[in-house]
Amino acid sequence: MQFENTYTGLPNSCYSKVDAAPAPRPVLLAWNQELAEELGLDRLEADENQLARWFSGNECLPGSDPIALAYAGHQFGNFVPQLGDGRALLLGELRGRGGQRYDIQLKGSGPTPYSRQGDGLAALGPVIREFLVSEAMHRLGIPTTRALAAVATGQTVYRERPLPGAVLTRVAASHLRVGTFEYLATRNDKASLQALVDFAIERHHPEVAEEERPAVALFREVVQTQARLVAQWMSVGFIHGVMNTDNVTISGQTLDYGPCAFMDSFDYQQVFSSIDRMGRYAYGQQPQIQHWNMARLAEALLPLGDPLPAFEEVLSTFPDSFERAFRAEMGRKLGLAEARADDEALLNDWLQLLQDEQRDFTLSFRQLADRLEETGEPLFGEFETRWRNRVSDQGLDGSTIRANMNAANPLYIPRNHQVERAIEAAVAGDMSVFHELHEVLQAPYTEQPGREAYAAAPSPAEVVSATFCGT
Ligand code: AMP
Ligand code: MG
Repeated sequence: MQFENTYTGLPNSCYSKVDAAPAPRPVLLAWNQELAEELGLDRLEADENQLARWFSGNECLPGSDPIALAYAGHQFGNFVPQLGDGRALLLGELRGRGGQRYDIQLKGSGPTPYSRQGDGLAALGPVIREFLVSEAMHRLGIPTTRALAAVATGQTVYRERPLPGAVLTRVAASHLRVGTFEYLATRNDKASLQALVDFAIERHHPEVAEEERPAVALFREVVQTQARLVAQWMSVGFIHGVMNTDNVTISGQTLDYGPCAFMDSFDYQQVFSSIDRMGRYAYGQQPQIQHWNMARLAEALLPLGDPLPAFEEVLSTFPDSFERAFRAEMGRKLGLAEARADDEALLNDWLQLLQDEQRDFTLSFRQLADRLEETGEPLFGEFETRWRNRVSDQGLDGSTIRANMNAANPLYIPRNHQVERAIEAAVAGDMSVFHELHEVLQAPYTEQPGREAYAAAPSPAEVVSATFCGT
């Protein structure tokens, strides 16, 4: 195992060297063996106690040299020139089996120069949530950071009430964000900004290095991956909850599972985050917000001298890229191998039906697929007939279309009430609820006999209508 730290090749203003605060009594709560193998960490042959000491920051992993990264960000529309890793440390980079580079980061490992008023710690609840939801996203096939480990620290963390503390080990393609570029742009530090652009290109898009305008080319790649990412989120009913520019990656992975949630019944205006009072980051707002965030990235790249119209031209492609990606996603979910522009009405009417009838977003697609093998009264009114006519247009038999739909529509998602149940049990010292839920979410598309309760929508008493970022 060989840690590298290419980030320290960037100018000093981009990071600070920091040691983790030792946890008093680290206990390993969850370990992602498959990911550990991908990273070569299984070769350490460490026991659970050793893993707990390393992945709580109690002991420095051999070869790692931790740093906290600086970044800025637009938070709910307001620019904050300095944020940074206030409770996270980048241990270094490891290579996966295919040679790709991963950042290994501890989250909740103590204060850094960027902590501002915060304590640098994480409570167990948010750690459990990020572990479950990020790993579920990965299994859903959506680009995301991953969770390697969750370790209880044995330290009490004070939020609205005293809570057990924990550290999450996050694995990311990188932790570069829109806010990292904003941080240098606002300081008018062009040399550092150029170095950051070169770094991002080498890490994520080496193929654009030879283009005439590499910064614009990098921007184009980010715009495209982010448009696709938001379409993928929306295809599973995911609401990120805090799409501030410091939480928007350059890699195109989903980052920061704070007050995020999957919706149960469909509503374009759905918001869960208790701090999002204006609904800025509501389900249906996400494309517009990401477009806005991309404009902030363009602004941050402008000081390097490429002409404004070059950025504007790329930026203007966002809505269309999103629409195309979303149509393809929704088309697949509705059993269409290829959704055409003239399918738009069918897709929109379906979503409107779910909205008007407050149907469960996830289950409705599975129920619709089942209709292909059932006769009798339609479940979805006249929509069902129109849809049947359109899907049977494709020259495929019903059972093939149904199988395609079931491969595109998860049965198991990390529903809020299930995640809350896992958190409550974990805080009370019982990790079994977490482990079972995590296991179910490893195979989201496959019916798992005996686990029907995990697929079910919450009963009215179980509905969770607000989430908290817990910071
Ligand atoms: P987030 O909402 O998690 O994206 O965090 C926004 C900013 O607040 C980042 O700069 C975090 O590092 C910082 N932050 C969040 N929670 C804490 C904490 N408990 N201690 C220090 N900084 C924090
Ligand atoms: Mg963040």
